[in-house]
This record gives sequence, C-alpha cells and structure tokens, in this order.
Amino acid sequence: MALRFEVLGRFNRARAAQLTLPHFVCQTPLFMPVGTQGTIKGLTNDQLEEIGCQIILGNTYHLALRPTSELLDELGGLHSFMKWPRALLTDSGGFQMVSLLHLADITEKGVTFQSPIDGKPMLLTPEESIQIQNRVGADIIMALDDVVKTTITGPRIEEAMYRTLRWIDRCVAAHKRPNEQNLFGIVQGGLDPVLRDICVRGLVERNLPGYAIGGLSGGEDKDSFWRVVAQCTAALPEDKPRYVMGVGYPLDIVVCSALGADMYDCVYPTRTARFGTALVPEGVLKLKHQAMADDTRPIDPSCSCMVCKNFSRAYIHCLVTKDAMGSQLLSYHNLYYMMKLSRDLHSSIVHEKFPEFVCKFLQKMVLGKKFSPLPRSLPIVFVAYEFVVSRQINLCFFLYSAVSQGRCSRMGLQCDGSCRD
Ligand SMILES: [Zn+2]
Repeated sequence: MALRFEVLGRFNRARAAQLTLPHFVCQTPLFMPVGTQGTIKGLTNDQLEEIGCQIILGNTYHLALRPTSELLDELGGLHSFMKWPRALLTDSGGFQMVSLLHLADITEKGVTFQSPIDGKPMLLTPEESIQIQNRVGADIIMALDDVVKTTITGPRIEEAMYRTLRWIDRCVAAHKRPNEQNLFGIVQGGLDPVLRDICVRGLVERNLPGYAIGGLSGGEDKDSFWRVVAQCTAALPEDKPRYVMGVGYPLDIVVCSALGADMYDCVYPTRTARFGTALVPEGVLKLKHQAMADDTRPIDPSCSCMVCKNFSRAYIHCLVTKDAMGSQLLSYHNLYYMMKLSRDLHSSIVHEKFPEFVCKFLQKMVLGKKFSPLPRSLPIVFVAYEFVVSRQINLCFFLYSAVSQGRCSRMGLQCDGSCRD
C-alpha cells in the first residue's frame, strides 16, 4: 500500500481527510479534472497548481495509443513526461473501449476491440491494463472491471459483477509496483442492492488501498444513483478512500460527500466550458447568451479566480463563439470553482460547519435570489419545502437526511427524530 488516509473531521457520514500519496498530500473531499493525453485542454501545469488541483486523471486508453506506455516508461513515466509534480490517477482503459468503440466485446479473457489505428482485433486483459498502468506510473491505478450501463437490467448485471470480482484477483497478481502505486477496486452491481453488497464484501476482503463506486452516472435516475452511493459508502471501510467515478455536477458532489464519499472525477466542468457555460453558485451561466454581450460584471462577482478578477462577461461572450481563449478562460474558472467547492467541503467538515455549508450552497443554487438571504429561523426544513415545490422531492429527502440526521432509516442514515419537528 502506497497511501495514508487520515480522517481529520466528520459530520454524520461526511468526512474530511488527508490522503497522502507518493507525489502529493491531498485534502478530501476532492475533485479530479480529467486530462486525456496528459493535459487538461487549454491550461498549463502552473495554472492547475495555482487553481489548487491535487490529482489529475490520465486516460489509459488514449495514453496507450499515443504516446504509448512503452515510451512513457522510457521517459520516466507520465509525471516526468507531462512535468506534473502532484498526484496522478489512471483509469483501466476498459471504459473508453466500451463507450467509444462499437465493436468492443467482453469475454472472460478481457475486452476485445477493433484497433482504431489499423482495424485489427485487439484484446485488453486485466493483466495488460495493470502492466500499462505500471508503466505510466500514476499514484492511483484502477482495476479493469466489466462495465455495464446502469440502464441495462437482467442477468448481464450479475455476470459483470462476478467477472469484476474475478478480474480483481488477476489485477492484484499482475500489479508489479504495489509500494509505489495504489490499486483501487471498483464496486459494480448496477442498481441491484444485493449484487452491490456482494461486490463490496468481495472487494473489502481483498484489503485494497482504496475503493471506487463504478457504473453510475450512466443515465440512471438520481434517486437510484444516491441510493447506490449511500449503500456502498456505508459498507466500505472507514479507513480507506472512497471514489465515486464519473461524478462532476457540484450538487452531486455535495450529496455524495454528505454520504461519506471522498473523491470524484468528471469531464463536465471542462467540457461545459467548451460550450460556453460557466459554473456559478446559482447554477450555470451561459456566456453565449446575447444578454452577456454588454454585461460588464465578472462571471461570478463572488469568485476570486484570475478570470473573474480580470475579465468581464462581455469580453468572454466575445471570445466564446470565435476564439479558443474563451473556453480556456471558462475552463480555468470552472476548475477553480470545483477546487474551491472541494476546499469548502473539507474545511466546513473540519470546522464542524457542514450543515451550514450545505444549507448555504442549496440556498444559492436552488432558491437563487428569490429568497436570499434566508432567515436563520427557516433552515433546512424550508429548503426541503422548496425542493418539494420544485419536484426534486427525492433530492430533498436525501440532503435533508444527510445534513440533519433525518428520519431516513430507509437511506441507511442514523435518525434522532429531530427532523420531525
Ligand atoms: Zn472565477
């Protein structure tokens, strides 16, 4: 094991921790931006450090195709190739194959796919995925799993879950650098609580350095999504990091953190920037909108990032449609927003202010200016009411229970009855 995980503070199930990895000491909860070929589009490493990025996610499938893992190995690994001094995480490569390539086929041996370069059939086995990731050299590497869309039902889900468990042993056996790289297992099992439970138990028995909750954010409804996260975080060990894969909406990060998750990754903040959208406390701001053309305010007047300190909405509106600079500035702001959200989650939990933080976050995001400032006498109950009105009743129940020790035994959360008032 090449990590140390120390919980610094808790509120109910939410925790703030220090995660010490070979290349960086991280504070959780944390968001990891996704770099495809060893780069976050449009941002320099200095900017990423300035923003406060702690871990960057490298895409094994893309790295294996170009520059190839052999070359990376020769050049001293991805850290030295991209001159990134902080932590890195690589995925197994399997997800890209299944999602990008129509001709991917999964058998017990591995994932068979048609090479995008010469069209020849290729096979990615658990052993090969780990070998490639050992060469790339990231602080955290991911087991190859059998990924099935959550919207699929039937025996395929069960088959994929058991195969994921069989493959984890092949991954562990193939892992040549356990003292320098941490292999995380991935909990599968679709939306079926029984299968999820079997998978969590199976992985925990293997005593891995960390655990990911996989197979979500694939089009399932929010109610199912949160239930799976709640079930898995409750069953995973307290002293190991928990990573919810593919999660990047700010609200989802707040909810999952309330449920005891620690790490997240998603292309959303940078992808949405390329479409001209900024993340703001009230939700999103579409910079392409005509109303932005003569708006002299910064993207978010409460944000202290380099972009908000220097540029107006009008200027970015001018750029977004024509110049790459527009999406670069938006990516910078959006990642700054995600890093600040991570820091705020961490410090609010450490300073025992987590419910207040969640309340404030929700007030801004859901109520906007309509009810702001919210009187102190109308705390979470009022927010909950607003959620009901806006038909986000499931979300309301979840946040409500997570932040107030609510009446929510059905969510597996502790209840002291105070929420009934
Ligand atoms: Zn900003």
